[in-house]
Amino acid sequence: MKIAILKERRADEKRCAATPDTVKKYISLGAEVCIESGAGESAAIADPAFTAAGATIVPEAAAAVADADLILKVQRPLTAEEGGLDELAGAKSGALLAAILNPHGAKDSIAGYAAKGVSAFAMELMPRITRAQAMDVLSSQSNLAGYKAVLDAAAEFGRAFPMMMTAAGTVAPARVLVMGAGVAGLQAIATARRLGAIVSATDVRPAAKEQVESLGASFVAVEDEEFKQAETAGGYAKEMSDAYKAKQAALIAETIKKQDVVITTALIPGRKAPVLVSEEMVKSMKLGSVIVDLAVEQGGNCPLSEAGKVVVKHGVKLVGHNNVPSRLAVDATALYARNLLNFVTLLVDKESKALKVNWEDEIVKGVALTRDGQIIHPAFKA
Ligand code: NAD
Repeated sequence: MKIAILKERRADEKRCAATPDTVKKYISLGAEVCIESGAGESAAIADPAFTAAGATIVPEAAAAVADADLILKVQRPLTAEEGGLDELAGAKSGALLAAILNPHGAKDSIAGYAAKGVSAFAMELMPRITRAQAMDVLSSQSNLAGYKAVLDAAAEFGRAFPMMMTAAGTVAPARVLVMGAGVAGLQAIATARRLGAIVSATDVRPAAKEQVESLGASFVAVEDEEFKQAETAGGYAKEMSDAYKAKQAALIAETIKKQDVVITTALIPGRKAPVLVSEEMVKSMKLGSVIVDLAVEQGGNCPLSEAGKVVVKHGVKLVGHNNVPSRLAVDATALYARNLLNFVTLLVDKESKALKVNWEDEIVKGVALTRDGQIIHPAFKA
């Protein structure tokens, strides 16, 4: 069993799909690990650290991919159509690929995996069941993003977060509103609280209320009948009705005026992010306030934020960094690589030390996009 680890080439991507620790574990599972030179550099892992763990370093992606049974990446492999290297060019038919494949945003690439005979697993489709928690890349990466969003806000804010009583006068605590209290939002709440801010939060899932309050923040939401039903079996948010959105927007409009910092994290899987902070709301905020839009790459929770930029509009700073987990590349790599290892362990037969995929396993069914030249995932079949 040969495992290939490639260097990430997409813009703003500093993470790596393996660490020396996971390499050692793959070798103990019976694998030979081949890593493209420089793959870990931006996550503070030098080639010799991988070599010391037992991996072989090769100069190019093609050499790593050749004969590989399993290709591990952070992001979707580059294709020739994207104007450069086709990272899967030399992949053998029957090879497995596991990465964050963005199947909703890159539907064409799914047919590409099938055409190459590659069985592709989209890690972000991991079912939210207890057994899969240790493989849940969205959770591990969102947690770091939520933390970093607060630090980014604090760095851009021209005032302090905690209350300070000094001989020269009192500094008032910052007021932070977190919109979307999922994995990223809850970590943002905890981080802002640790920095001494007064925190409130909002979400459309009723279960979020108790979690928000248990972190010492206050919950802001229109709690009507629709709100009480607003959660899918998978624990994700549902798209809300226009009537609910209008009521919620009115409540938020009142709340937002009093905030210094707003952190938005609201996502609906497979759809454009909901707009939660309108231009009117931005205008109503105090000069020097900060909005961090963690949903900026999915269209943004605020129409004024711009992907990959920090901009000032109506006197408010809008922070729209791309790929926020990658801004904490070392920790994001460690957790992502662990998630992958836990998933791969499920695919390896302990006796024969070879890959043996149980296609009926709920976890495999959840993430598998292609198999034997066909698209097999029900959400992406033609
Ligand atoms: P997500 O990243 O898809 O969305 C972020 C948050 O935005 C969610 O809480 C969502 O409800 C909220 N949101 C969506 N539309 C909104 C709107 N219009 N207004 C306000 N908020 C809105 O979600 P996530 O962080 O990945 O997690 C969703 C839930 O799943 C959380 O409760 C999380 O704890 C749970 N979860 C369970 C497991 C498990 O059981 N294995 C694993 C991970 C997460």
